[in-house]
Amino acid sequence: MNILVTGGAGYIGSHTVVELVEAGHDVVVVDNLVNSSKKSLDRVARIVNKKIAFYEADIRDREKMEKVFSENQFDCCIHFAGLKAVGESVAFPWEYYDNNINGTLVLLDVLRKNGCKNIIFSSSATVYGTPAVVPITEDCPKGQCTNPYGQTKSMLEQIMMDMQKADPEWNVVILRYFNPIGAHKSGTIGESPNGIPNNLMPYITQVAVGKLKELGIFGNDYDTPDGTGVRDYIHVVDLANGHVKALKAIENKCGLAVYNLGTGHGYSVLDIVKAFEEANGIKLPYVIKPRRPGDIAVCYSDPSKAERELDWKAQYDITDMCRDSWRWQKQNPNGYDD
Ligand code: NAD
Ligand code: UDP
Repeated sequence: MNILVTGGAGYIGSHTVVELVEAGHDVVVVDNLVNSSKKSLDRVARIVNKKIAFYEADIRDREKMEKVFSENQFDCCIHFAGLKAVGESVAFPWEYYDNNINGTLVLLDVLRKNGCKNIIFSSSATVYGTPAVVPITEDCPKGQCTNPYGQTKSMLEQIMMDMQKADPEWNVVILRYFNPIGAHKSGTIGESPNGIPNNLMPYITQVAVGKLKELGIFGNDYDTPDGTGVRDYIHVVDLANGHVKALKAIENKCGLAVYNLGTGHGYSVLDIVKAFEEANGIKLPYVIKPRRPGDIAVCYSDPSKAERELDWKAQYDITDMCRDSWRWQKQNPNGYDD
């Protein structure tokens, strides 16, 4: 298939481009590089031994988007482009709503005007809010999002669901990611956050590489086996493959389909610290800090719907994830800035 990948220079997008090309698809990436580097696509090209078509463009820029469509024909769009930092979204809500909501509205309009009514959207487990039950199935009710980032995901899901309902020619696959970590086995592409990382694994790898002194663990008094927060970590390559599988749903004219992409296993922060230490033979200094506002105690998926309907199942375990995250960080202590 001919696939438009928005945000394809980013962490999940770049890994997905690798898997798409390796599965035989033709890919065009649109990214404004607000949170990524063009180098990621150069490295992807090296992995797949093929140049990646790239437009540096903001998805809110209708003229540029029209140009992309005038020069290409697409069967489907995989839509990663968006801002994703929770704390930043609290400080800059307008910018988040503008980028994520307006950007997607422009994209959807350009897509339909050019006859491409197929989209796979990056959503998040954050839409479940504080989950009513775990493991979380897709029919768990959506919850209250505690920050503008989460609101944009929840609103965008609704917008696409409404559009699909009004015009059944649309095929919309909503993928709710749990916690992506890890990196491509080559160690040449990975997560390269700006500034001090917000997320657990990039923080851990920066402690391990000596850029940060110690990990702060946000709370050890949750109602979990060891008191620290429990999440469903998933290898980014497994996540990327979930998108390749989701193309089948698009081909089969799924209409609207929602899938959790997780492993179904919950690991605490201390489990991750231990797994990282064991996988890589590195001691990680840490201190217990107060809870981080907005965090929930436990969140993990029931991924069986994706297995049943997409024939997708995560292949990598927590040791693989820790080993691959570390290989990327060790080989690229400053991410793509090296
Ligand atoms: P990322 O920041 O690495 O990638 C997003 C990419 O989109 C970046 O390359 C950025 O430059 C680009 N972008 C942002 N706004 C744009 C715009 N207006 N026009 C063009 N390009 C734009 O993030 P990621 O971790 O790869 O996440 C990809 C998607 O998955 C995002 O939508 C994110 O919200 C979602 N998601 C991520 C996680 C996670 O933990 N990483 C979890 C759930 C959902
Ligand atoms: N966490 C932590 N220290 C950090 C970053 C995260 O203890 O420096 C914890 C956080 O409280 C949560 C888990 O690690 O329990 C995963 O957090 P992350 O920000 O990676 O993902 P989230 O699930 O919050 O989106």
